[in-house]
Amino acid sequence: MSNATTTPLLDRMQPASGGRVILDAATREPIGRAPEHTVADLDDALARARAAQPGWEALGHERRSELLGAVADRIDEYAEQLAELLSREQGKPLNGPNARFEVGACSAWLRATAATVLEPEVVVDSDGVHAELSYRAIGVVGAIGPWNWPMMIAIWQIAPALRMGNTVVVKPSEYTPLSVLALLDVMNEVLPPDVLIGVAGDRDVGARLASHPGVDKVMFTGSTATGRRIIEGSAQNLARLTLELGGNDAGIVLPGADPAAIAEGLFWGAFINTGQTCAALKRLYVHDSIYDGVVDALAAVTARMPMGNGLDEANVLGPLQNQLQFDIVSRLVEDARTNGGRVVTGGAPATELGELFYPITLIADVSDGLALVDEEQFGPVLPIIRYSDVDDAVASANRLDAGLGASVWGDRDAALAVAARVHAGTVWINSHGGVHPMIPFGGVKGSGYGLEFGVEGLKAVSVPRVING
Ligand code: NAD
Repeated sequence: MSNATTTPLLDRMQPASGGRVILDAATREPIGRAPEHTVADLDDALARARAAQPGWEALGHERRSELLGAVADRIDEYAEQLAELLSREQGKPLNGPNARFEVGACSAWLRATAATVLEPEVVVDSDGVHAELSYRAIGVVGAIGPWNWPMMIAIWQIAPALRMGNTVVVKPSEYTPLSVLALLDVMNEVLPPDVLIGVAGDRDVGARLASHPGVDKVMFTGSTATGRRIIEGSAQNLARLTLELGGNDAGIVLPGADPAAIAEGLFWGAFINTGQTCAALKRLYVHDSIYDGVVDALAAVTARMPMGNGLDEANVLGPLQNQLQFDIVSRLVEDARTNGGRVVTGGAPATELGELFYPITLIADVSDGLALVDEEQFGPVLPIIRYSDVDDAVASANRLDAGLGASVWGDRDAALAVAARVHAGTVWINSHGGVHPMIPFGGVKGSGYGLEFGVEGLKAVSVPRVING
């Protein structure tokens, strides 16, 4: 086995001995080893983060913002190395809305967060009563992340926490530790010691982080099942929680929508990061009058989107990141086929491209109740469901215990009226999944609770203090 590494960044993270072998998602060849930290390492990291916190908070907002800006600049300097590592470990291509885009989002989010100010609020100022609500750091934040957008989601958790004066211990997914550790390594060229610490461990380390007495707040992004464990853990340390959990976003295409005009938006809404995205379009409800047109237009877009090794600039779609996810996608497609789904395109593994490649798969003529519709596929397959009454489409969109995102496509006014009836944290109109550092983002129902981004995101990593008098 070779330990060949392609980037100096990767070289400098290699443990002296041992470690977890990480495979290239496209070629399944080893790309390096990630340290395997233990629960004892976590305890040490939390103690160091605790010791560093008062000094970091004492720097004040202006200085911390300056440092976050400098961190963003440093990430930009390393952008190509980071993107290449991310592409190999996660699988997403360099090109398209993928690896370079993700690294770019990291520095963009840091800069936007650095510039965001959480002002104190005078809540009562009358009849001799003056009360002001302000916010201060919580203390030590534990950040636990998934493998799909490992760098960007880590930054979503880290940036507001540091901005408010907390220190942060990050536990990346065991599937994508190198990307996150490399990112932290670059950030730590700028930050003071122990303000930001990575602990690369498995689920036990995650569970310990979530319930540890040395943690004041847990930012968690991952599956709904793990989110429930995190809530249980917080019974021990009373840590505050932000839970960004799984989604099963519905899209509703209204009568009158132009299939050709919306097809590319629908495609990327569903298949950004080859479908491995929390707020991706995961079930599409299309009005009977334009159903065939939308299916055909989506198939036409699919035909011109190349999939393959992410380091090849031609590709905009990559492999599934891991075998477990590949198996989930394969099972759901087989089940849909067995139960009468019409495979429009794709439908079987693309083994000619590599072990974990599954082509974009459109499955038409399915209905609610099918596993592919009701479960989160988290991969390159989209069920397309026909409806004839908008009330039914809204009921379908709302019937599952998930509420991260949704979208409505068609005439804007008609779409707005439908959006007002949809139970999701974000409802996009004529697009799906776009996020912005100043627009609050978060789920409802089984998709979790708490908001990230903008001023609301800063509040989420702070504790309130009322001065009354
Ligand atoms: P996962 O829940 O399996 O793992 C996420 C993280 O939790 C990993 O770091 C893992 O090691 C850790 N973990 C596992 N068990 C734990 C425990 N008992 N206590 C503490 N930590 C534990 O999720 P995943 O498979 O990595 O990610 C895919 C899921 O994440 C999908 O459901 C997707 O929708 C969701 N997701 C949500 C968002 C969002 O913003 N809402 C974003 C990305 C992904």
